[in-house]
Amino acid sequence: MHTFPDAKAVVREIAPDEAVILNRPHAAARAARFFTEKFPGTAMYAVKANPSPDLIRILWSEGVTHYDVASIGEVRMVREVLPEATLCFMHPVKTKGAIREAYFQHGVRTFSLDTMEELQKIVEATDGASDLQLLVRLRVSSEHSELSLASKFGVDLADATPLLQATRQHCDALGICFHVGSQAMTPFAYVQALERVRAAIAEAAITVDIVDVGGGFPSIYPDLDPPAMEDYFAQIHRSFEAMPISYSAELWAEPGRALCAEYSSLIVKVEKRRGDELYINDGAYGALFDAAHVAWRFPVVALEDDLTQPLTEFSFYGPTCDDADFMKGPFMLPEDIQAGDYIEIGMLGAYGAAMATRFNGFGATLGFIVEDEPMASIYRGDRPDPRSSDNVVSLR
Ligand SMILES: *Cc1c(COP(=O)(O)O)cnc(C)c1O
Repeated sequence: MHTFPDAKAVVREIAPDEAVILNRPHAAARAARFFTEKFPGTAMYAVKANPSPDLIRILWSEGVTHYDVASIGEVRMVREVLPEATLCFMHPVKTKGAIREAYFQHGVRTFSLDTMEELQKIVEATDGASDLQLLVRLRVSSEHSELSLASKFGVDLADATPLLQATRQHCDALGICFHVGSQAMTPFAYVQALERVRAAIAEAAITVDIVDVGGGFPSIYPDLDPPAMEDYFAQIHRSFEAMPISYSAELWAEPGRALCAEYSSLIVKVEKRRGDELYINDGAYGALFDAAHVAWRFPVVALEDDLTQPLTEFSFYGPTCDDADFMKGPFMLPEDIQAGDYIEIGMLGAYGAAMATRFNGFGATLGFIVEDEPMASIYRGDRPDPRSSDNVVSLR
């Protein structure tokens, strides 16, 4: 892959007519190092956030050894890229065929579940294996997160006891996992969820070997400036230490967004301007799914040096013929931006490139490496002291 200093250099040299993905290997490596060095347990990468083999190799080389996979397609892909990685099949609803292939052909020993039926399925598909690590997914609140994961999966606390007790009978190691929702804006989300785990363990009176706090670790976006990642780790560690579990119990996490958000950005071209609406060449069916469907505000910068007017609010239309290909924003760009100008849209490494389709024949087909910094970084240590902001819930 060709390397450029930054997005402006790409525009100068290529003036691309199609959207271009820019990858920052150094940013992904920094995020991986941060988690492997500072998370007080095992951090596995949730592959769905960005399944790029290049990215997965970077994470592996920085010490990320465990991968959270959710489909047999992800199992096969990661196994091919990383023959020695530990794969954990963390989708609570799987087919018997997928479980069987994962167990017998790809060495997967770790599975999650949230019903008796799924437990039965896992036991049957593995021929009653005695070396399973089974994690029961508990439903927890998503109230502190930008994207909820609370309604689809997870057993309710009130129904957890029989499932935990039955699962204990069929595994070598028993775990409890949960997901607080994506982009959790306070560490308190994890503290609250871990309180529920504690209640489930006490109620079921079982021995738990693994506590898995799932994903949800944040990145930085306009209007979404979370506390320092260290605060999340510290609060999780404190709650974990206070759990009624053995000294040998393990703490796991499944960060997706936090490991890859800073990895990629996107260059788009303005094809047309209509008032405060810019028609650009990527959108809802490309790398900007979340900008359209959940009105996520990604950071933007104009790549032209001759724009002199102050920033003002714009919304975007994507290139397809669908009215839904609309991104409300607001995206802050110079008032004099016009057709033919280029824009860089930042922080698209997570749930950006991964969600692109080729609908209507549009979408980024070119990708380059760039060496500059992402538009924001939660790992750079140059952010204002988060404790001075009021979105931190102090439990001390
Ligand atoms: C999506 C998902 C993750 C990753 O979530 P992020 O919010 O991106 O960190 C982790 N675990 C499970 C089970 C998931 O479904």
